[in-house]
Amino acid sequence: RTFQQFNLGEDIVKALKSLNYLKPTNVQEEVIPKALAKSDIIVKSQTGSGKTAAFAVPLCDLVHWEENKPQALVLTPTRELAAQVKDDITNIGRYKRVKATAIYGKQSFQRQKLELKQKSHIVVGTPGRVLDHLEKGTLDVSRLEYLVIDEADEMLNMGFIDQVEAIIQMLPKSRVTMLFSATMPEDIKQLSNQYMTNPVFIEI
Ligand code: AMP
Repeated sequence: RTFQQFNLGEDIVKALKSLNYLKPTNVQEEVIPKALAKSDIIVKSQTGSGKTAAFAVPLCDLVHWEENKPQALVLTPTRELAAQVKDDITNIGRYKRVKATAIYGKQSFQRQKLELKQKSHIVVGTPGRVLDHLEKGTLDVSRLEYLVIDEADEMLNMGFIDQVEAIIQMLPKSRVTMLFSATMPEDIKQLSNQYMTNPVFIEI
């Protein structure tokens, strides 16, 4: 099994080679084809399973380079994870020149605002700061097609669930949603019932 089987663009395959990702992990094997087919997906898997690339690979492949407004939003519970996901996306999208922007608290809002005015294919951020940019009109989601909720159970534990819901309500209804979580508490199930369309459930 190789990454070639997914019919990814040459530029993505080349980046995966240079990262020494020789074959897909189990979660990538399951998620990548379904994400490329634009299905809503719920994934129950641990960190360390390669879940970041499981959504970063299809997102990098799917985004249209010419579009200047953000096409994908990734929500993470912590600033550290947001920065790491942004780096992973930048690496996987290197040869396609995919532009990822991270927005999180404790960092200049003004600087993020300027960055969001530049071309940004994928925005990665923590719920509080993302909501802040949405409410102030500095994050344009009018062309958004993909939402990823990463570590959803952590998001819940940290008390971000209301902010996550508020964000989802501001996004276009016709979008693909992918939710990743190590555990599936009732609140996460409810969230997915409410905001996802016929999601495929993947457990690794
Ligand atoms: P994650 O679960 O996303 O935190 O990834 C765990 C680690 O596995 C990270 O250091 C990745 O760089 C690495 N990784 C992800 N996918 C692959 C792959 N297909 N082959 C080799 N390493 C990978």
